[in-house]
Amino acid sequence: MAIGESGHKSENITWTRGKVTNEDRARQNKHSGCVVWLTGLSAAGKSTIATELERELFSQGKHAFVLDGDNMRHGLCSDLAFSPEDRKENIRRIGEVAKLFAEAGFVCITAFISPYRSDRDLARSIVQAGKFIEVYLNVPVEVCAQRDPKGLYAKARAGQIQNFTGISAPYEPPLQAELELRTDQMSVANCVAAIQERLKQLPC
Ligand code: ADP
Repeated sequence: MAIGESGHKSENITWTRGKVTNEDRARQNKHSGCVVWLTGLSAAGKSTIATELERELFSQGKHAFVLDGDNMRHGLCSDLAFSPEDRKENIRRIGEVAKLFAEAGFVCITAFISPYRSDRDLARSIVQAGKFIEVYLNVPVEVCAQRDPKGLYAKARAGQIQNFTGISAPYEPPLQAELELRTDQMSVANCVAAIQERLKQLPC
């Protein structure tokens, strides 16, 4: 199918506006929707912190939902592998889904390695200004390899996994993340508290 002037593959599509605004939802929910974008190496702590943050926010009566890397690859992204092009498309889809959750009023917490800066910047660019909180879980690769909760570093070092971030594929650290957390120096509870503190600065 040819790509039209709009850059979309389909012609004759228009945006339908609803009658409930983001502000209406924020007022009713008593908090804004936003995206908390966790990024870092495998085993940096993304899933651990994402699920703990979700539980904390939920227990406070807030709307929170985690989009997790492996889970998304079972469904929406099951046609994608780990080449640079597929990683880019994977993150593009996640960004679009996260944006929808944020607009629906949720604190949408994403737990993806998302190794390329340009892909994370693309996700940031489609979310309302000030409502994309990039959180860099900064941990030396040696610590991640020691943790190795899924045995992936051992497999990558043995050459059994190709394109493994930090070993045989690059990771581009954020230059201006809203938060940077050393999960090898802070407890899970303190990391979660730091993110919650940052969420208090969200615009309405
Ligand atoms: P990722 O989702 O980034 O691949 P996981 O959350 O699956 O990482 O694994 C991180 C591992 O590190 C877990 O075993 C977790 O218990 C451990 N860990 C130790 N300290 C922390 C911390 N402060 N934050 C997150 N995880 C931590």
